[in-house]
Amino acid sequence: MTRTLIVGASVGGVRTAQALRGGGYDGEIVLVDLETEAPYDKPPLSKALLTGSAVPDGIRLLTPEQARAARIDLRLGLRAVGLDPRARVVAFQDGSTARYDRLVVATGGSARRPPWATTDGVHVVRTLADAAGLRRDLMAGGPLVVIGAGFVGAEVASTGRRLGLDVTMVDVQPFPLSRSLSPDIARAVLALHENAGVRCLMGVGVSGVSGRGRHLAVTLDDGTELQAATVVAGIGAATGDGWLAASGLKLDDGLVCDEYCRAVGTTDVYAVGDVARWFDLTRGRHVRAEHWTNAVDQAACVAHNIIEPRSPRPYRPVDFVWSDQHDWKIHVIGDATGPAATAVLGDPMADQRFAALYADEHDRLRGAVVVNWPRALVRCRKAMREAAAWRDLASDLHTAGGRVGA
Ligand SMILES: Cc1cc2nc3c(=O)[nH]c(=O)nc-3n(C[C@H](O)[C@H](O)[C@H](O)COP(=O)(O)OP(=O)(O)OC[C@H]3O[C@@H](n4cnc5c(N)ncnc54)[C@H](O)[C@@H]3O)c2cc1C
Repeated sequence: MTRTLIVGASVGGVRTAQALRGGGYDGEIVLVDLETEAPYDKPPLSKALLTGSAVPDGIRLLTPEQARAARIDLRLGLRAVGLDPRARVVAFQDGSTARYDRLVVATGGSARRPPWATTDGVHVVRTLADAAGLRRDLMAGGPLVVIGAGFVGAEVASTGRRLGLDVTMVDVQPFPLSRSLSPDIARAVLALHENAGVRCLMGVGVSGVSGRGRHLAVTLDDGTELQAATVVAGIGAATGDGWLAASGLKLDDGLVCDEYCRAVGTTDVYAVGDVARWFDLTRGRHVRAEHWTNAVDQAACVAHNIIEPRSPRPYRPVDFVWSDQHDWKIHVIGDATGPAATAVLGDPMADQRFAALYADEHDRLRGAVVVNWPRALVRCRKAMREAAAWRDLASDLHTAGGRVGA
């Protein structure tokens, strides 16, 4: 019987295992993770889990019972430390090994640790244990300082306000979500946070964090000192490819794969999720994505390519990320960067719902940001899949009730 070994049992790994079984794969599936927790989903960690509206058992991706029923051999508490691709063997920290016929690398990433003093009270948010520790401190009250205004930082700031805390968010960039959104739209996200009572200190870095316990001081590059009971660093993730360093596989901030998500130079090693750097035929280059939908879509593609090696499918996704901040449901589709959106339906500074469209050099839609507008979201995702003309989409959305604002 063939054996597929999946290392990493978060959304990428779990969905690969389930898609293999769902697609009729009859071999052995071994799914391992360094965590001892049954697999769980990460998006709620910065949102519902912090407010308490979700509990750990409500965010499980796969329970031991579900694993047994699907004949998935779930092995927890095992950290992979090495791979010998010739011998087809993965080595674990406890000295054990596992052989495979197919290997799926799904080791995602870990929270980037803050470079300043790591006093207790300075949190990161990547695991259930991180979120539980942060929730304890948030519930104890006192000022919260969030360092980093990317997706995770901005979500924690929003959750902090929801819990009634005094929240300050700091970032060297001029606006929140600056790496993902054009400045005109990111400015509206800044206004959203300010209107919700978050004190936003943008364009300034952090030079240090001092203190202990719940008496912390965050010092900014301009000399400002912020007192905090809780500090959260949302400063990005480190890619989980370190355990492959001696494997001889090509690494470049992620495991480098071909268009079928197969590690280059191999026929039996695949990657899914945040750790995969695959060759994207649409963009003509290797890319990596850190979004939930990417992990899910890539898992389906990899499962297909393992089951049907003679008719593999290239992985050609449309990027999609969502984020809940205050009363906005933000959706980013494709590439929404650049100096400004090509057209905006609605007024991001005043309206509760709007859509911003971005065109490529051939006047096709290359990206969109949709806030609180489900119908526009469906249309934008369809238009992206079909590489539709942005003007057709704009007039369609105009008819659907959006005023053209730019
Ligand atoms: C707080 C937070 C909120 C988020 N919110 C959103 C959101 O709203 N929308 C969105 O689109 N995306 C969101 N994301 C991103 C999304 O959750 C990730 O893209 C997704 O979890 C990636 O899944 P993955 O399986 O590739 O990797 P990960 O979720 O990082 O999982 C990797 C797994 O591999 C295990 N592992 C790592 N190294 C080893 C090893 N050596 N041996 C064994 N096991 C190992 C880890 O323990 C982990 O379980 C959020 C992420 C975080 C952290």
